[in-house]
Formats: sequence, structure tokens, C-alpha cells
Amino acid sequence: MEIAIAPEMRCYSGGLGVLAGDYLRAAADLALPMVFVTLANREGYVLQEIDAQGNQIDRPHPWEPGDHAVPLDTVVTVPVAGRDVAVRAWMHVSEGVTGARVATLLLDTDLPQNSAEDRALTGRLYGGDARYRLRQEAVLGIGAARLLSAIGLAIGHWHLNEGHAALLPLELVRAGSDIDTVRRACVFTTHTPVAAGRDRFAFGLMEAELPRDYRAAYDRVLPDAEDLDMTLLAMRLSGYANAVSKRHRDVASDLYPGEDIAYVTNGVHPGYWAAPAMQALFDAQASGWREDSDALAAIAMTDPARVAQAHEAARANLIESVRTRTGRQLDPQRPILCYARRMTGYKRPTLMFEDLDRLRTIARRHPFTLLIAGKAHPNDGGGKDAIRAIHDFARQCDDMPSVVFLPGYGLELAHLLVGGADVWLNLPVPPLEASGTSGMKAAINGGLNLSTPDGWWLEGVREGANGWTIGDGDTDPDRHGALLLDMLAKTVLPAWYEDREGWNGMMRDAIATIGPAFSAQRAMREYARDAYRFDGLRG
Ligand SMILES: *Cc1c(COP(=O)(O)O)cnc(C)c1O
Repeated sequence: MEIAIAPEMRCYSGGLGVLAGDYLRAAADLALPMVFVTLANREGYVLQEIDAQGNQIDRPHPWEPGDHAVPLDTVVTVPVAGRDVAVRAWMHVSEGVTGARVATLLLDTDLPQNSAEDRALTGRLYGGDARYRLRQEAVLGIGAARLLSAIGLAIGHWHLNEGHAALLPLELVRAGSDIDTVRRACVFTTHTPVAAGRDRFAFGLMEAELPRDYRAAYDRVLPDAEDLDMTLLAMRLSGYANAVSKRHRDVASDLYPGEDIAYVTNGVHPGYWAAPAMQALFDAQASGWREDSDALAAIAMTDPARVAQAHEAARANLIESVRTRTGRQLDPQRPILCYARRMTGYKRPTLMFEDLDRLRTIARRHPFTLLIAGKAHPNDGGGKDAIRAIHDFARQCDDMPSVVFLPGYGLELAHLLVGGADVWLNLPVPPLEASGTSGMKAAINGGLNLSTPDGWWLEGVREGANGWTIGDGDTDPDRHGALLLDMLAKTVLPAWYEDREGWNGMMRDAIATIGPAFSAQRAMREYARDAYRFDGLRG
């Protein structure tokens, strides 16, 4: 549904798309014979502005695919509400580290032969109502199957990245493939245990929007279903299904009893996310890391002072950017803690502020800076309330700690933050964060994670050696707020102020332990081997 290729190509919203972009970059590095397919999302996701009261103002954030991709001649149609909607694709080509090229096709209905309503179908990412979403997913799933077939690409495996693409295998069944053949060809990745992230549509809507033979095909796959359940559909029509961390595999297996679910823990692309000075250090100390991220393990031998020096450059860049963006001059002596993620309830963006008096007392003893960024989905009232509350808390803190909200979280701001953060905060209610990836990006830049026990962190943490965990698996989530402040007061801030050499050693070890294990290349190798059963992997 989304992919983050470059900041100016606004066909992405957040974690799901950024991950897809990192997998695209890794697929190109590994010269995997893949093609990525998404929607053009011409209106983008949300251009976030914050008014004087701390309210998020949502605006569309349009972009022009023609500025970044070339149009293909092939046009196919997708049935929507009794009409045939014409779909074409824009092709963008990414180049890997050894020059291999991988294409992304951006599906687009903005064609003169379509009605105004249909031209807008590949407009707003995650916008509109259930009807609009189902139509978008018809363009994505049915459109991808028909377009790749019309182009004449022989597809060995279809990888459905989240349930949004589940109409693709249904289209294959409807067109006459038997269910076992489709299952052998399809791979499905589920990305969240949160219900809002999993599409379900009423049968009435399905019947109004899609021809009768789709419902008939669906009934053959899921005879007892109560609605069009995109996750279950994708899972039933995929011979290989995976979750995105070990913990998430257990959670997903409980959610879908009887399904066989593997896991491929997410990873990020180090060459894309490491700040320039850090890349220069890797070039000097971990040669070959761009071709093979496993080489980053060699950073374990680097002098921690050199890591600190490289990190300092990214940190100075972040401080300067905060100044130009907001007019706020941060004190460079204070550690920079960052909280940047989609603003939504289970990620607990206001957990830090549960006991404001204590927070201020801690900051007076050990001053620190807290940078916060993140967009709320336009319909997520709770997320918008959190943004407003953060602005109120920031005023009440009166610089102890310094709290700055940076609007417009996207690829660009993410690069600045993960590059310069000293501590990366991750505060979800376990087990709702299937994996998370931003903490991996911070870690390859020497940032230390401070996280509740969830998602990838359970696999990545070496407690006190590359970051810290707030409580353990048995801790009542209601206690996380108090424990977070305990950790800051007793462990994290004293480590910064009283043992900088130890801190620098942790930065180095965060890179050496997390860089190789949580890289997108490692993840793509696992997908190639276990899911696509591709035997042409180099190395
Ligand atoms: C990495 C990234 C995300 C996902 O981060 P999480 O840790 O999964 O919350 C979201 N948005 C942007 C812009 C990112 O770079």
C-alpha cells in the first residue's frame, strides 16, 4: 500500500512503507530478481502543521509521480462498483550497491478515460472511508496481478506485504488457478496485532464493489467467514506466512489459531540510515559493510572515542536543524532523548509526562533534552489529543527538561533524529508493537535504546551493554511510566554525566551488535531463502 523510496516521493506514511523502502534497497544490494508494486498515492499521506494551541492540522501532501518515475504503456482495468477502472503504472528504478537494479511500479488511476471519482482512487494514502479503502485495495491487488501479467513478467512468488494486498491471490483464484497452486506461489507478512491495522470489510460492501465471482472465490477459500477479512484471506492463500519478530510470531499464532506462522524479524538499511560521519567511520573500520552488513560486527574493535566523534557530527547537525526549524537553541552538553513515532494510543507518546513534578526534579539534577515527533492519523482523535497534551507539558516543563516537538515526521526528520539521538525511547504497551524499526536506525548511529520489553528489542537487547529495558515481561504496563523515570534518574542520566567512557563503549557495542543482526539485508536473505525459496543468492 505504501513504500518510502525518497522524501520527495510521498507515497508512504510511516513504518510499513519505510520498511518496504529498506527492503527495496536491500533487494537491489543483493541483486534479487524482484519487482515492487504499490499505489501512486498522489495526494500523499498528511502534511502536518501544528497550530498555536498544539492542534494538528491535516493537509494533503501531493506529489507528481512523473517527476520521479517513467510511465509504462500497459494499461489494465480493475472492476470497481460495476465499472472498469483503467490502471497504469509509473516505474521507478533503484540501484543497489553493486549496480543491480530493482523496479517499483506505482499504480495510478489518474487517467482521462476514468471518471473524476475513479481518478482519485490512487490519491490519498489511508484516506477516505471503508468503500474508498476497498476500492484502493482492489486497484492494488487485482491491478498488480493483471498489470504484471499484461507486461509479461513471469512471477515465481507473490509477496503480500500486509493484508492490503489480499485481493491479489483472490484474483488468481477467481481467474481459475486452484487454491493449492496459489498457495505455493504466495507469501504473506502480517505486520501488526492491532485490530485497526487489519482491514475487514462487510460482505454488503464487497458485493456492491466487486463482481459476484470474487465473493464466490472467497467463499471457496473461507466458507465460514463473517466478512471480508483481508488478513485471514492473505494467510489462507499463502503457503508461507510470517510475523515480523519472534514475539510477534507468538502473538500472531494466538490471534490466528491453527495457522502456521514463521517469523522474519524486521531490519533497516544501514547505508541509508547511518549518518555521513558514521558511514565514513564504517568505511574505515568495517570494510565491505555496504555489500554485506555482517561486516559491521567489526566495529566491536573500534576505539569508542572514534565512534563518539562520528556521532558528535550527527548530533551537531541535529542541534543546528532544531535551531533553524524552531528557533530553539539546545544545550549541547545535555543528552538528547528522542521519541519519534506515529502518535497513537498504544505507543504511549505521553508516558514520559505521567508524573510531571518528578520529571522536572530529575531534569534539574541531570538536565536533558527531549525531542518529540510524529503524525497522528487524521481520524485518530486520541493521537491528536496526545500531540496537544505534549505541547502543554512542554510549556509546563519550562526547559527542565527542554521539550521540543518537531512537526512533519517523515524520512528527512527521521534521518536527523536517528543520527543525533543519544537515547531512543520506545514505549509501546507490550505486546502491541509487532517489531518497531526506528530503534534499529538509532542504534546503527550509536544511539542507546530505552524500551519497554516488546517487538525487536527483546531480540536485540544486551541489558546495560547496548541499551536498557523498562521492566520485564511480567511488569504491569501501568507501572512503565514510573519505571521509565526510575531508569532515567538512576541509570541512564548518571551514565551520561558520570561515565562517558562507559557510554561511548555502549554506543560502539550498540552498532556492532545491532547493525548486522537487524539489517534489511539479513531480513531479505531470510525472505529469499525461506519464503521465496530462491537459490540464486550470492555469498
Ligand atoms: C522508521 C520509521 C518509522 C517506523 O518506526 P517505528 O519504530 O516502527 O515506530 C516511522 N516513520 C518513519 C519516518 C520512519 O523512518
